[in-house]
Order: sequence, then structure tokens, then C-alpha cells
Amino acid sequence: MQFCDKCGAMMAPFKDADAVKLKCRSCGYVIDAAGSLKVSQKVERTPRDKIVVIDDDTVPMPKTSASCPKCGHNEAYYWTVQTRRGDEGATEFYRCTKCKTTWRNYGG
Ligand SMILES: [Zn+2]
Ligand SMILES: [Zn+2]
Repeated sequence: MQFCDKCGAMMAPFKDADAVKLKCRSCGYVIDAAGSLKVSQKVERTPRDKIVVIDDDTVPMPKTSASCPKCGHNEAYYWTVQTRRGDEGATEFYRCTKCKTTWRNYGG
């Protein structure tokens, strides 16, 4: 509901060409309906869940002693990935510091 700025009476919408306007029933004051009705709409974008893939040697990762299944090297980087299922613990991954072979720790 829009009221007249001049006299405070109720205003009625009417079409003027392509625009919808409001006209005061009392004094005839006309305003542009589109300009008077400010519709603010806030669109929030939720970022999608990202699956982080660690495939960058520049990221410093802790090392641990683990036996590489490929070359037998006994030192590997390791990191953990939390699975979506709550009843499962974090999965451990290893990457051989020598041949870059990546494997998962099934031993848990
Ligand atoms: Zn008026
Ligand atoms: Zn290796």
C-alpha cells in the first residue's frame, strides 16, 4: 500500500504507457510505482563442497616412516582425509618421498 507524499491519501495504481504509476485519489499526485517500490533481493551463493586433492609437491607435508609398496623406500609423506561417513575415521594416505607413489593405509 502506498500513500501520497503530499496529502497522505491512499494511492491507486494505474498504467501509463508501459510503466505502472500510482495516482493519489485525493489530490492527483502521481509517482512512479517502479521507483517507489524498492525490492531488494539478496542472493547468497553457497560454495559447493570441494574435494581437496593433494597433488602438489610444494605443499609441505609431514613425513613419517612408512614402507613404500613400489620401491621399498621407508620414508613417506602422510596426510589424512576425513570421510563423509561419521562412523569411519580419517583415512591415512602416504606418498613415497622417493618415487612419489601414493597409497592408502589400510592397516588402520
Ligand atoms: Zn495526495
Ligand atoms: Zn617409493
